[in-house]
Amino acid sequence: MAKIMNGKKIAEEMKARLKKKLEPLEEKPSLSVILVGNNKASEIYVKMKERACNEVGIKFNLYRFPKNVQEDEVIDFIDRLNKKPDVNGIIVQLPLPGHIDEKRIFETISPLKDVDCFHPSNRWKLLIGLEDIAPCTPAAVLEILKKYGIEVGGKNIVVVGRSYLVGQPLAIMLLNRNATVTICHSKTRNLAEHTKKADIIISAVGKPDLIKGDMISKNAVIIDVGTSRVNNKITGDVDFKSVEKKASYITKVPGGVGPVTIANVLWNVVKCYEKQTG
Ligand code: NAP
Repeated sequence: MAKIMNGKKIAEEMKARLKKKLEPLEEKPSLSVILVGNNKASEIYVKMKERACNEVGIKFNLYRFPKNVQEDEVIDFIDRLNKKPDVNGIIVQLPLPGHIDEKRIFETISPLKDVDCFHPSNRWKLLIGLEDIAPCTPAAVLEILKKYGIEVGGKNIVVVGRSYLVGQPLAIMLLNRNATVTICHSKTRNLAEHTKKADIIISAVGKPDLIKGDMISKNAVIIDVGTSRVNNKITGDVDFKSVEKKASYITKVPGGVGPVTIANVLWNVVKCYEKQTG
């Protein structure tokens, strides 16, 4: 039976450390979140970020725009936040409605306030191994592996999913740590052929039961980033029942990558704050 990697516990420790660090500050760091439309999952994620900010003493501001807002209006608003000295971190909650060009949004967020590491200049830094502001979910995956003493250097690691938010930056960060990385996606012909050869599988897709026990090697390490809602319950990409019998380590959904991602959001706000205040 696989050992469960407890993301919730790691996140609690990270938040406790941050709370202590912020206690002596008279002027607390602040996070501004832009939410366009009323996507149910986004509403939940934003609420979780707000709660976490309150827990550690980060000021939180939410700015809502209707689903049909013009792209230029959002761009102008981000520009204004960029210029405000009392705004330290900016998040534009994804997904955005189809008529808004995400790439324009990513380019507009000031690199100094870019909590999600979306800005091209921060991505370029990631590519060359400078990870001062690392994307929150990929960094959460690495934090969990580190906490459980799982070395990534030299390992065969399959990342399932290649999004700008998770799969792609995660693959880069694993390469930066000398892993041998295979990236799979929706056009990959035989997913199991790749996953069976992996020491570590990280799935970031959003399809329940995509990874099953017969697709992994004995003692593989399994990280489940996927989050889907099935019958009003949150579930990951991994068929937990069949996989936990064969794997050596596994994360659960909920309680795995999610809480550590939120803790990384908080830490990134403070890193942005420190960059701005010197
Ligand atoms: P996304 O932008 O929809 O990307 C999904 C990726 O999965 C794409 O690269 C897609 O391939 C690939 N894919 C789709 N079907 C596949 C299949 N059958 N086999 C292999 N690959 C397949 O999603 P995302 O933003 O990266 O998020 C991925 C999942 O992680 C979602 O469930 C999301 O809710 C969750 N998530 C969790 C956290 C957390 O903190 N726990 C944070 C962020 C996201 P193509 O590129 O070919 O389309």
